[in-house]
Amino acid sequence: MSLRSRAAARDGPRIQGEIVTSPATSAASPADLPEYAPVPAIAKGAPLNEHGYHVRQVERNLYAVTDNVYMSAFLTTPDGVVIFDAPPNIGHNIRRAVDEVTTANGVTNQVTHMVYSHHHADHQGASFLFGGDIVRIGHEETRRLLLRDGDAARPVPDVTFSDSYTLEVGGEHVELAWHGPNHSPDNIYIHFPGHDTLMFIDVVNAGWIPIYNLNLSDDVIGYSGAPAIALDYPWTHLISGHLGRVATREDVALHQQYIADIEASSREALASVNPGPIFQHYGENVWAAVRAYLDAVTEHAAAPVIAKYTGVLGGADIDIYTWTTTFAIMQSIRLDRGPSGPVHP
Ligand SMILES: [Zn+2]
Repeated sequence: MSLRSRAAARDGPRIQGEIVTSPATSAASPADLPEYAPVPAIAKGAPLNEHGYHVRQVERNLYAVTDNVYMSAFLTTPDGVVIFDAPPNIGHNIRRAVDEVTTANGVTNQVTHMVYSHHHADHQGASFLFGGDIVRIGHEETRRLLLRDGDAARPVPDVTFSDSYTLEVGGEHVELAWHGPNHSPDNIYIHFPGHDTLMFIDVVNAGWIPIYNLNLSDDVIGYSGAPAIALDYPWTHLISGHLGRVATREDVALHQQYIADIEASSREALASVNPGPIFQHYGENVWAAVRAYLDAVTEHAAAPVIAKYTGVLGGADIDIYTWTTTFAIMQSIRLDRGPSGPVHP
């Protein structure tokens, strides 16, 4: 890694406002961009068609559509099509994929229902493309957050639930359930018992590490525990919302190991990095000491994890991702689990 990208990685969590204008990340020339290890085979997606999407049959009449960055799903039934998430990144290609599959199979292409996995715009911002005459279903917190956010691209759900909901369309059953906050307060588990599939978004990335701060997640403990809840369901295929592959149970286990390694490494770093000399050095500037101490703990904890997963999971050598996730987990260990530090004698 170059010194400059190392510096950008180190500064990223502190000065995100500046990082977009820093030379390392706003470079006009690709020659200035940092280089990384080749993407491992486990992280590779499918070839895209001329429109920029790939649609695959997951099981029977359940399909996944991806641009190798985002992934959503749809179910074709004799009574209409149900769409699960509408990422703007895929946008009109969702419609194209539905038309391609329904034409090939001689079933209706009329979209009648849409299910929201959670309220985030990057997964629902193309919802408006399907108009106002469909039934939208989501968690009650999704409705509350969408009413708060007032985004016309994401019409609020008409049908909401608190703990669980069974969607029945055209002879198919889909089980929606909320098991507590994780990536977001409203992120739900979407189980297709007749399709051997679970859809659970923005926690596990098939073949890749999470991006910044545990995939931009709100609740560290909820996020860390969610994969075990996902594995409690019976399924072979996991639609996880990002990148090009439908995930397997092995992908979830590898993700769990990555998070567990960060937790163990963070505990070890908290126990071994001595803040005393740092606070003595900075004297009355205690915030400078806090910064230096937390950076030292984060680097100590993250370095072996980055080394272990480089070449194993995509993005593992983009060290700011593991740095920021490690920082969030290390703070959760201190603030949620406790103790935050020694009690003054
Ligand atoms: Zn999200």
